[in-house]
Amino acid sequence: MNTVSALVATAAVAAAAITGAGIWAKSQTSPVETDRPAITQQEALQFKERKREMARSSEEWKDKVKDKLDANQMNVCFGAGTEPPFTGKYWDHHEKGHYECTVCGQNLFDSNTKYDSGSGWPSFYDVVEKSNLKLEEDLSLGMRRVEVLCSNCGSHLGHVFEDGPQPTGLRYCINSASLQFVAEDGTRDEAEGGEGQEDTTSEGGQGSGGEY
Ligand SMILES: [Zn+2]
Repeated sequence: MNTVSALVATAAVAAAAITGAGIWAKSQTSPVETDRPAITQQEALQFKERKREMARSSEEWKDKVKDKLDANQMNVCFGAGTEPPFTGKYWDHHEKGHYECTVCGQNLFDSNTKYDSGSGWPSFYDVVEKSNLKLEEDLSLGMRRVEVLCSNCGSHLGHVFEDGPQPTGLRYCINSASLQFVAEDGTRDEAEGGEGQEDTTSEGGQGSGGEY
């Protein structure tokens, strides 16, 4: 892993994705159902290629954690799946501590920045360290979104939206399945699978799921 330069590049991409997100700007010229620019064929191809590359680079991590994670976690972390809302173990979790990447243990979010967004997924308005996340444009399901990944292992975490509270105005909408809570006293929540859900549905049907 080429660390320093990768982190710098990551931060630059992150900044661009967030600030330059004309992605989110409401277009007044929207002809039909969507108010965002249509996804071009070239963009779609580049997106597919990027996903393929990411899938290749996550093979090593997959191997390391396949005995530790359940089917739902594997699907979310490595298949960019989404857990059904209000089912994960952290959407309604209010203890003090921090949340790590469940795959590699990188520190991602602090409980002080967690808030109740009403979405049914753990929501944070900030991140522990910007460089600990990697942001990528996500064109799956025919939508333009910004995907949030762990910068260390590439695990899929969720998406970031610009409808969060101040001071950042951001909403990091994260799957419980991608997180591992560590309490302030260092106690790790080892209960896997949370509320006993062995549900591997990707709601909305992850159309491209079978490709990698
Ligand atoms: Zn990670």
